[in-house]
Amino acid sequence: MIKTALNLLEKLNNGGFEAFIVGGAVRNKLLNLQVKDYDITTNATPQQIKQVFDGYDFVEAGIKHGTVGVIVDKNVYEITTYRVDGDYFDHRRPKNVTFSTSLKEDLTRRDFTINALAYDKDFNIIDYFDGVTDLKNGIIRAVGDPKKRFTEDALRILRAVRFSAEYGFTIEKNTLDAMIECKSYLKDISSERIFIELNKTLCGKYCAEALYTCKQILFEVIPELEITDGFLQFSLAHDYDVFNHTLVAIRSSKSNKPAVMWSLLFHDIGKPYCLTFGEDGYGHTRGHMQISHEKIKPILERLKFPTKLKEEVLQIVLDHDTTISKSKYEVKKYLSRHGLELTQDLFYVKLADNTAHSTIGIIRYAKSVKQLKYYLDEIIENNELYDINKLAISGDDIMSLGVYGKDVGFVKNELFDKVLQGEVENDKTKLIKLATSICKNLKN
Ligand code: ATP
Ligand code: MG
Repeated sequence: MIKTALNLLEKLNNGGFEAFIVGGAVRNKLLNLQVKDYDITTNATPQQIKQVFDGYDFVEAGIKHGTVGVIVDKNVYEITTYRVDGDYFDHRRPKNVTFSTSLKEDLTRRDFTINALAYDKDFNIIDYFDGVTDLKNGIIRAVGDPKKRFTEDALRILRAVRFSAEYGFTIEKNTLDAMIECKSYLKDISSERIFIELNKTLCGKYCAEALYTCKQILFEVIPELEITDGFLQFSLAHDYDVFNHTLVAIRSSKSNKPAVMWSLLFHDIGKPYCLTFGEDGYGHTRGHMQISHEKIKPILERLKFPTKLKEEVLQIVLDHDTTISKSKYEVKKYLSRHGLELTQDLFYVKLADNTAHSTIGIIRYAKSVKQLKYYLDEIIENNELYDINKLAISGDDIMSLGVYGKDVGFVKNELFDKVLQGEVENDKTKLIKLATSICKNLKN
């Protein structure tokens, strides 16, 4: 809450200290975007911060680096003492940090001019590096010498790509050149950090443009994608090479959920391994879905994907080019196996993938995508059954008809299938009646 943050600034001022809101909160306020959290910077030392906020609860995990988390109404406000970072090692971490009494020094260590802005409790902007101009012009520019800054901390390279993807900003030429020059230092960045930044990049509104400009950075962290760049498809259904098709699909996506965006990034990664030519001279990539599925397994492991996201992306990539909507029954079967969320995400992937084809390709595949949407909407609207656990008859009900063991599951599956086929309603009395006749047949 801005009110609370300003209140904290005032309390520090009243204690005789300087205090400013800094970083993302300033940037997003000037951009008129939602502010997620308020970071405060001050010349008070952690000890002095704790004295000013005597009686408050604190989070002290970051205290070594000068950060005291002050808890107000269950929210944590991070208050950090002005800092200068010592020499860096490992292209990520400073050897030591020292506290400073100068706001300018603190702002100098920040990554980009648009992130090196601060304001005081009266909203006076402090801007030593022309960050406001860069913000107005939509430019990402390193503070100081870009090569030095990316050599110190290579994570900044991915942060630049990410901010460009989120805000649609252009990366200033020297900054971009230095990112590319320093890209090999990304090997020192942990997989977890790489995943977080790429994930945010992919969910950014301008992701495709950012990845187009920064493809060398993308290929540095996911080298397996490089083979798709410039790989031609020799197909009437395609206007682009595989990588550019991927970017167009990403740009066309109507959902920016991580599962959708990662699946789009990877869906055709297997194509270069299976291109064959028909007698007509056109290219075919039959089986590319399985190859994509196999190729990305080690990537998802390496980037330490969260389990649920990993499983979803693997499944969607495997199914992205399979028709699952020839009938409503087929859609329900898919839903019963994979659930609503994944099926909806698969729809968004198919839709974006389809949009990124040539006109001929769009016409060829649009029907099955439309049909999937049509059936999905109908199933949801009518609250039609696709989850066996919601069948109106239980295992106990079936056992009470005199069947046991494996037969119970068999009968239940039969009933479920008949409901999916629309042959019987999901109504207990009707299902018992049908179950009775199935059980009778079983016993004979
Ligand atoms: P958001 O929270 O929207 O992702 P942010 O800019 O607030 O963006 P944070 O990671 O929360 O990003 O960092 C807060 C501020 O700390 C940044 O605005 C920047 O000033 C500084 N900062 C963060 N990471 C780095 C870094 N690797 N190098 C230099 N400065 C950094
Ligand atoms: Mg932040």
